[in-house]
Amino acid sequence: MEIREISIFKEFRCQGENCPDTCCKGWIIPLTREDRKRFLSAGGFFRFRFAAAMVGRRFGDFNSSCKYCPFLNIRGLCSIQLKYGHGFIPETCRSYPRSYRNYGVFEERYVDLSCICVAGLFIKNYRDLKLISYESTAEGDLYSTNDDTGYLKDLTDTRSLFIKALYESEPQGYGCLAYVLKAIDDYASEAQDAFIHGHEDHLRTSPFVLSPYSETAFPGCPAKPDLTGSKTGAVFPLPASAVNFLMNTALVSEYLKYGSPYIYGIFRIYTDYPSHRISAARLNKIYEEYTKKYPDYAGYYAAYYVYYLYKFFLNCYEDYSFTKNIRMGLIHLGMVFFLHSIYFDKNGELPLSEFTHIMSAYNRRAYFNYKNLDRMYEVFVADFF
Ligand code: SF4
Repeated sequence: MEIREISIFKEFRCQGENCPDTCCKGWIIPLTREDRKRFLSAGGFFRFRFAAAMVGRRFGDFNSSCKYCPFLNIRGLCSIQLKYGHGFIPETCRSYPRSYRNYGVFEERYVDLSCICVAGLFIKNYRDLKLISYESTAEGDLYSTNDDTGYLKDLTDTRSLFIKALYESEPQGYGCLAYVLKAIDDYASEAQDAFIHGHEDHLRTSPFVLSPYSETAFPGCPAKPDLTGSKTGAVFPLPASAVNFLMNTALVSEYLKYGSPYIYGIFRIYTDYPSHRISAARLNKIYEEYTKKYPDYAGYYAAYYVYYLYKFFLNCYEDYSFTKNIRMGLIHLGMVFFLHSIYFDKNGELPLSEFTHIMSAYNRRAYFNYKNLDRMYEVFVADFF
């Protein structure tokens, strides 16, 4: 089968005991039926430890307290792996941060930005994130129930057009990025409408182009992002109203101080504001100062959305939800930008190491809480559209 692998996939190396933010904490570790069978068939004291680790708020998984995995030893290594080898650890831990999406005719392979090491690779290679194609055996189970391969090709072509536009916006800065994102969002709405009315060839017959925003290289792009955030305005960055709603979902929790102290510390910058809110005037000022100080960071945000599209836009193959899949990425991009901005406001700078860490820690916190993702989408749409 054709494999399409993100260009940083093979560069990933787990940093193990040297990892500055190990993935062995802050998460419930789901166990498969095979994992449970394997663990309960182990002998001696480990069998007892396995059984005890599966008991908790969520029976049958490891680390239901969401703090440190009980098998992480004092050197920061996995004691199951040390005793039984890599093949014995839970399936989730074995593959993390890799993911395999087998669409029947090709398989896409990614590494996840929630791993701090992957986030570092992303920053190093942000200008040239692409899929590398080769033939091999698929690793993943079939990811979709759809078998309309013509539609799948339309989706991958559309994704390529979005990505090309995002990369072309990068040298022009935040203003152009905001324009391109708005154009992508508008196109998603248009495609959604077309599909609802039965025009299932829309992506092919009316492909994404940047007009009416630009004929060539974005003439007239503003040097600064549009900060109005009005219901008809820019979709990036997020206005204060959207941020205040999103930060009041289950994304932010006091429990994080035990399992994910780093992101907890970042969220605290926000929760320390009077009444746990930020005003539009204050946030716009922060955005303005942050973008002025770091104009080159616009390229990282363009690449962040590129990476999101690579990983998630093909969800449309299953659910046909163009607007939802595009907007979930806008939420994540806007939230990462917001957290960077408030960190900068508090500390007067945002070194690239903190930029990377915040992005990775946010991804770890936000992307895997499926119930809250729905809630975030609801509040975002209610505020914006
Ligand atoms: S976060 Fe990444 S580098 Fe760190 S322990 Fe986990 S897989 Fe390894």
